[in-house]
Formats: sequence, structure tokens, C-alpha cells
Amino acid sequence: MTGIVVDIKRFAVHDGDGIRTTLFLKGCPLKCVWCHNPESISFKPQLSYIEKKCIGCGECADVCPAGAHSISESGHIFDRALCTACGKCAAVCLGEALKFYGEKMTVEELVPILLEDKSFYDTSGGGITLSGGECLMQAEFCAELLKEMKERGVSTAVDTCGFVNRSAIDAVFPYTDIFLYDIKAVDEDVHIKCTGQSNGIIIENLKYIDSRGGKIEVRYPYVPGMNDDQAEKIADLLCGIKNLVKMRVLPYHNFAGSKYESVGMENTLPQFGMPSDETMAEVREYFRSRGITVCE
Ligand code: SF4
Ligand code: SF4
Repeated sequence: MTGIVVDIKRFAVHDGDGIRTTLFLKGCPLKCVWCHNPESISFKPQLSYIEKKCIGCGECADVCPAGAHSISESGHIFDRALCTACGKCAAVCLGEALKFYGEKMTVEELVPILLEDKSFYDTSGGGITLSGGECLMQAEFCAELLKEMKERGVSTAVDTCGFVNRSAIDAVFPYTDIFLYDIKAVDEDVHIKCTGQSNGIIIENLKYIDSRGGKIEVRYPYVPGMNDDQAEKIADLLCGIKNLVKMRVLPYHNFAGSKYESVGMENTLPQFGMPSDETMAEVREYFRSRGITVCE
């Protein structure tokens, strides 16, 4: 079975416990205005181009079947409108200015890659994490991959926004040790403002996983001016989740601005600034005061 991959990150330490390898899959049903992985939103393959990394070697122009690259005395010109996202130029780019997002990979190809760091998983209490985008938009692929990893003694986590069909959760549930679950807002109007979608199905799925006894780590991305008024309501929700292991409050940052430009997308990052360390400490302390275990 084949999945559409954005990236593979080794030695990840923020995608679950211990040292992990995180597999990012392409495509997401939400459009969070603060998304720091814009290259993972579209289900279609995309080419990223970072002009300042280009060394002008011309390899891309030689292999591009669409004529999207040209080299002249004034330098390298990339015409994104001509690009069909075949990925050929990224494979030969000497300056690493070009990167292809959307490679199709089979479970058989991924298993040995994900096993490379098994000794680190075993000594650190880590494992693998499937993320995105929204990995559960490719639920059957995820289920097959997770099953293969479980059979090899690897701990598994699924990082989900929860905006998926119940059948997607059912598919991966038997092979998932913990769900890393985003709660962005409880008020529906706030959620729609932040993501473009209602949160009804997200809250229902959170309760569904809990009802089945699935372990859950909730993530609350704290974004000033967008969802920073939701802490109390999120705490109310989480106090009713029996299998909540812990939560993380993730501070908004705007470091991903150049990524939007590199893949030819409009930058939607909020301009309200990043929360201070003091604010983040206060928010975390608030959740602790409600009896919730909070990780930094
Ligand atoms: S991804 Fe393919 S079509 Fe697009 S610029 Fe590169 S070689 Fe040309
Ligand atoms: S292959 Fe890469 S480094 Fe060479 S000209 Fe093309 S974009 Fe620039």
C-alpha cells in the first residue's frame, strides 16, 4: 500500500515520549491560519524553491520536462505556473534549493527506514509518530504501517487533528499506543475562525477514543488573538476525559513565514506576535490547577 509523504524527521523529541521518528503525510482537511507546515496542507505534490540557496548550476533546467527553469546571465528564473510537480528537478538540485513534497512511498519501503533508530526508541522510551497534515486522511495506509511497526516491537503514536471519519480512528486504533490530539478551541465560532471548520466531529472523536480506552495526549496550540480565550473551556472538556495522560500547551511562533513563500502559498500566519514565556507559564499553571498533567 502507498502513502503520500511530506517528510521524515529523525530524532524528534516533541512528537511523543522519548526519541522518535516522525512521518509526515500529505493533506489536511483543516486550514489553520497559524499552520507551520503549509507544505503538508494540500493533498497534491508541491515543489519548494528557496532562491537564496540556488548556486545557479542549471541542473534543474536540464531535466525539467515543462521548461519551468531557465538560467540566464541574470540568474535562475523559476516559473511556478509551468511546474507540474513531477519532482525531477529536486532530485538533481546541487544547492538543495529545490525540495519535492509528496513522494509516494510503500509500507515496505518505509518499515526499514523507520526501524533504523529502533535502538534509540528502546533506550529512550520513544518510537514512531505518524503526523501531517492529517495522517488519518490516509487511514488504511497508516493502519498497515502501524501494524508492521507494532509487530516489530516499536511503540506507536498518531498525531491527529481529529477532523476525520470514525472509520479512520477504528482502522488505526488497534495499532496505536497513544493519540496526540489537537484541541484548538471549544467554542465553535472560534474554531471556524481559526481552522475554517466546525469542531463538533473533533470533540466527538476525542470522546470516542476515550470511551474505547485509548491513551490521549492533548495539544493546545496557544495563539494570541486567535484562541487564547479558550483555556478554561478546554480545561472543562479535558476534565471529563478519563484516558488523558497529559497535555501540552504549544506556543505560537511565526518562524514558518518563508515556507509559505517557498511553496507559492499565501502566508496566513497571524500577526499578533508570539506569547511570552511568562504567559505560557501562566497558561500551563492554570491547567495544572485544574488537575491536568502538563508537559513543557
Ligand atoms: S517539479 Fe518537475 S515540472 Fe516542476 S519544475 Fe521540477 S522538473 Fe519541472
Ligand atoms: S539545480 Fe538547484 S542549485 Fe542548480 S540552478 Fe537549479 S535550483 Fe539552483
